[in-house]
Amino acid sequence: MLKLVVCIKQVPMVSELPWDPATGTIQRDLAEGMMNPACRSALDAALRIKEAAGGEITAITMGPPMAEEILREAIALGADRGVLLTDRKMAGADTSVTSHTLARAIEKACPGFDLILCGFSTIDSETAQVGPQLAEELDIPGVAYVNELEISGRTVRMQRFTDNFLETLEMDLPGLVTVTTGRYAPRHVPLGGLQAAFAGADIVSLDAAAVGLDPERIGAKGSATKIRNVYSPTAGKKNIVLTGAPKRIVEQLFERFDDKIGGAIGRDLKTERK
Ligand SMILES: Cc1cc2nc3c(=O)[nH]c(=O)nc-3n(C[C@H](O)[C@H](O)[C@H](O)COP(=O)(O)OP(=O)(O)OC[C@H]3O[C@@H](n4cnc5c(N)ncnc54)[C@H](O)[C@@H]3O)c2cc1C
Repeated sequence: MLKLVVCIKQVPMVSELPWDPATGTIQRDLAEGMMNPACRSALDAALRIKEAAGGEITAITMGPPMAEEILREAIALGADRGVLLTDRKMAGADTSVTSHTLARAIEKACPGFDLILCGFSTIDSETAQVGPQLAEELDIPGVAYVNELEISGRTVRMQRFTDNFLETLEMDLPGLVTVTTGRYAPRHVPLGGLQAAFAGADIVSLDAAAVGLDPERIGAKGSATKIRNVYSPTAGKKNIVLTGAPKRIVEQLFERFDDKIGGAIGRDLKTERK
C-alpha cells in the first residue's frame, strides 16, 4: 500500500496581520488560520493518487496548537491521519530548521513512506525552500513546482512548466514533490468527511522530546536566520513632465536615471558623464 505524506502549513487568513514588532513574527494565536492554498493542492494530488491506486495519507503540520484545525480539515477531505508537531521550543523556526524538524518527525511517525507531497510555497512566508530542503534532509530525490503527477509502480511521472518549457520527469520512490496550485483545485468537504474529522479523527500530537529532537537544533535557537526588521514598503510616486526638444528630453532622462539605465546596459554612466 502506498504511504503518502502531505506537509501542510496553517497560514493567517486575514489581510491585517497581527505582527509582533519585537520578534518580527506573526502573532498566530491572534489570526484566523486556514490551510495554505498550495498545501491544499498537494493534498488534492495525494487524494487523487489514493482514489486511483489506493494508499494511506498522513497529513503533517508543524505549528502552534491551533494548527490542529487544518489536520481535521485534511481528514475531512480524505486523509487517514494527522500528525501535529507542536512545542514552544519549535517556535521561530527558519526554513532550514523547519525542514530538519519535519524530516525527523516523518522518519518517526511515517517510517517506510513512499511519497511526500508539499505545497510549492506558502502565502505568508513564500520562500518555497521547505520542500527541497526536506528532500535533502531525508536524502531522497525531490522535484519542485510539479503541475501534474501520476504513479506507476515505483515511479512517479510528473509535468512542470519552467521558463516556457513543459518538462516531463520521472522519479523513483521514495521521493518528494512540491505541487503548484494550477492543476489541483481545492475540493469541498463531504458530510461524511466532517464526521470523520470530528468523531474519532486519528491525530497524533508530538513535541520535541517525543520526536527525539535536540533542543539546540530547533526553533529560534537552532535557526541561523534572524529577522532584523519587518515593515510594509511605501511606494512614493511622482509624475515628472520632461519638456524641450527630443535631444534635451533624452539628456534629462540620462541625468535623472543614469544609474538605472547604466545598470540595464552594464555601464557606469555616472562616471562616464563626468
Ligand atoms: C509554535 C510555532 C510557531 C510558528 N510561528 C511561525 C510564524 O510566526 N511565521 C511563520 O511563517 N512560520 C511559523 N511557524 C512555522 C515555521 O517556522 C515555518 O513553517 C517555516 O519557516 C516555513 O517557511 P515558509 O512558509 O517560507 O515555507 P515554504 O518553503 O514556502 O513552504 C513550502 C511548503 O513546505 C511545507 N511547509 C512549510 N512549513 C511547514 C510547516 N510548518 N508544517 C508543515 N509543512 C510545512 C508546506 O507543504 C508548504 O506548502 C511556527 C512553528 C511553530 C512550531
